[in-house]
Amino acid sequence: METRVLAPDKEGIIAAADVIRRRGTVAFPTETVYGLGADAFSARAVARVFAAKERPRFDPIIVHVASPEDVQTLWTSVPPLARTLMERFWPGPLTLVLPRRRRVPGIVTAGLPTVAVRMPDHPVALALIRAAERPVAAPSANRFGRLSPTHHDAVVDQLGGRIDAIVAGGATPVGIESTVVSLVEDPPVVLRPGGAPLEALREVVPGLRMGAPAGSAASPGALPRHYVPVTPLLLLERGPAPDEGEPLDRLACGFLAFREEWSGFGRVEVLSPRGDLVEAGARLFAALDRLDRAGLAAIVAEPVPEEGLGVAVMDRLRRAASGRAHVGPEEVWRVR
Ligand code: AMP
Ligand code: MG
Repeated sequence: METRVLAPDKEGIIAAADVIRRRGTVAFPTETVYGLGADAFSARAVARVFAAKERPRFDPIIVHVASPEDVQTLWTSVPPLARTLMERFWPGPLTLVLPRRRRVPGIVTAGLPTVAVRMPDHPVALALIRAAERPVAAPSANRFGRLSPTHHDAVVDQLGGRIDAIVAGGATPVGIESTVVSLVEDPPVVLRPGGAPLEALREVVPGLRMGAPAGSAASPGALPRHYVPVTPLLLLERGPAPDEGEPLDRLACGFLAFREEWSGFGRVEVLSPRGDLVEAGARLFAALDRLDRAGLAAIVAEPVPEEGLGVAVMDRLRRAASGRAHVGPEEVWRVR
């Protein structure tokens, strides 16, 4: 299949919308990461998204709308709390889960009686959904289990030749996926931390709970291992050196730092020299991708503070990690 790369201008967006209307698949930029979109009301179109991503069918997809009114076509009803959250956080990186209308194909929701919906805060995404004149179902535009793409080059790399078109919109500003909140339960539950910080959500929903542990059926996408680089990713542990472990040459390892340079590694990526967690979130996937391509024996990731977007960053790092590491003067101890 030939994948057309379209400019993010009027002409490109009209061409992309045309692909959606004809039940094809289009990758497009949102403020979080690139999405791989299809007509949300067409089971056949959505099946193509699953095929291109090699995504298991038990993983439901977020439906994207261009205006809060569009939720009427997807949810059976819109409770007052949903309205309040939509007014406060849309357009933006907040996805809300509520009971679905029959019209939404089961393949979109992996058979669940609910559907996840959000309105992205990106001019290209909004123009595309408007021009397609229908909600667009769109998971992240990566191969299943791989890093979510924050630039169209990463989409070309993972899905080129497997989808109909890509709208080349450059880098995505937030860089980390949306926060997913289920309003089916009372009090509401966070199924996945993401671009909308929990502190801000709690101002509107004081009783908000952290939800289903990773890997449970309530949020199938929250698999314990998910956003995985090919190179082993080890979470840095501080404190005394371990009694046993496998030593790796420090120069053969990469280091993903929060704010400070670390010397003695083969390659270092600093997420935010000024210690800004929003910036760290925006840079996370691209930095991991660069380290992953550097031919390293392992990547050591330094934990970031778990507040604001740091909660989402740590969630992604924990799920990408295959173990833990201690850093010695010349070596890295791989623990377990
Ligand atoms: P992605 O689109 O790749 O960022 O992943 C979407 C994620 O949102 C899924 O993997 C689930 O964790 C979550 N999600 C989507 N739809 C639902 C739903 N109906 N109920 C619960 N979680 C959902
Ligand atoms: Mg994804």
